Amino acid sequence: MKIAMTGVSGNMGAEALLQVMELGFVEQVRVLLTPKRKNDKLARRLSARYGDRLGIVRGWLSDAAACAKLVENADLVINMAAVIPPASDKDPRASYLCNQLGTMRLADAVAAMPVQAKFIHTSTVALYGNRTLAHPWGRPGDPLLPSVFDYYAMHKLIAERYVLESEVKNRAVLRQTAMLYDGIVFSNISDGLLYHTTLNGPLEWVTARDSGRLIKNIVVAEHEGAAGGFWNKVYDITGGAANRCTGYDTFFNGFSLMGGSPKAYFTPDMCQTRNFHGLWYAEDTLQRMFHYQSESVQDFWKGVGERYRFFRLAKAVPSFLIKRLLFDRLARDENAPARWIRDGDIAKVTAAYGGMEQALSLAKKWDAFKVEDAAAHGAREEQPLKACRDKLLCHGYDESKPQEEWSLDDMRGAAEYRGGKCLSKEYGGAYSKLLWQCGEGHTFTAAPYTVLKGGHWCPFCQPQPWIYDKLAKKSPYYAQVWYDSHGREENYVYGFDKDGRAHAEAEDKE
Ligand SMILES: [Zn+2]
Repeated sequence: MKIAMTGVSGNMGAEALLQVMELGFVEQVRVLLTPKRKNDKLARRLSARYGDRLGIVRGWLSDAAACAKLVENADLVINMAAVIPPASDKDPRASYLCNQLGTMRLADAVAAMPVQAKFIHTSTVALYGNRTLAHPWGRPGDPLLPSVFDYYAMHKLIAERYVLESEVKNRAVLRQTAMLYDGIVFSNISDGLLYHTTLNGPLEWVTARDSGRLIKNIVVAEHEGAAGGFWNKVYDITGGAANRCTGYDTFFNGFSLMGGSPKAYFTPDMCQTRNFHGLWYAEDTLQRMFHYQSESVQDFWKGVGERYRFFRLAKAVPSFLIKRLLFDRLARDENAPARWIRDGDIAKVTAAYGGMEQALSLAKKWDAFKVEDAAAHGAREEQPLKACRDKLLCHGYDESKPQEEWSLDDMRGAAEYRGGKCLSKEYGGAYSKLLWQCGEGHTFTAAPYTVLKGGHWCPFCQPQPWIYDKLAKKSPYYAQVWYDSHGREENYVYGFDKDGRAHAEAEDKE
């Protein structure tokens, strides 16, 4: 088997490469490394370690010629390249080139192969947008409402849809969840992004190592001819019952390595109350197929504490000093909500809190803030699909019907639930494109699978400007989750001006 991979300089890609290389039947892995100087060392290290079994193409994912060279003769192409926040917030162009255009170029390169490779595309939980404990459970087919002003999610949304609608005959979309990797603490104490986390929001973690094991196990199944039912579907990468928690729990676990806690380092009003992303997964299809979960959040943090001397040293530093030197400084960062409040950045404050008034009225002391217990909300359920059925979102059609039995009537019902119409008069199966109309009157094509199981809808109403307040008024599909963290009286259009500055305009009520 010959495999092509992108993103091996990243955390998930590095693990996937390491583990796939353990497989004797894998003849060659060809990887794409950007021409950045920091990849020179990596290229030398990989060549020294793997010799001819590893091929290296130096180039950009957005370069069609580089993509063609990468995928040549491959049986399997795995896209794990991503420019993630906060890098994507600071350099939207880099995010666009990698996350959106790069993915499109790669899918085009696979589609153009004389004998097409199979294509695995890594997408993201960020597509689902903000969740609260009112609807913490999510699954493929849920509405895609990426957070306002999130370039990463915006580009990934377009890219994922492109893959699903592409001419690639065998493709699979894996939506990656929040991922733990060794350097996570260090990369999160350099930017105000830390405070984007909602304290009582659901999060389900997976480790980079387990993500790499998932890729390895998919490769093994494909080699053994056992991955037949895997292709042409959308999946969530999940972490399992032990890895479901809240934003607060995550801070608590991470900070305890330094001998501290969220309560010692900042106040609850410094974290956003919405416009984040994260959920608990109601379906664990990948785990049942590929058995990759082995590390719990607790195991992970314990290991990090043992591996890094930094944390043992930090434990000797008094909490108030860590607070002053680190967390107070982070709260002044350009990407920190507390900074937006101080600077009067109404657009970002509105997206993150609902408005300046709401932000300023939040609890500034922990004893006035209720920290929710994830377990009390069902986070430890081993079979959430059974236990949490009443908290699942509705997809607007009879889900007990297998997709082979879907009909035009199902499409009409699903479209109506989304505030629009299915305009096609004939139905050609789950992957044959139909003509649809959204509630705003735009017409577009999409395969039934892309809409019903992907959760994608009108490509003109999304991704930006972000008009979710308007869309939710006509679409029960969006409304069922949007109003968990937004008021029905809100009517904002969020966007960027030509200088890239965020704005939020209140539209007159209709
Ligand atoms: Zn539309």
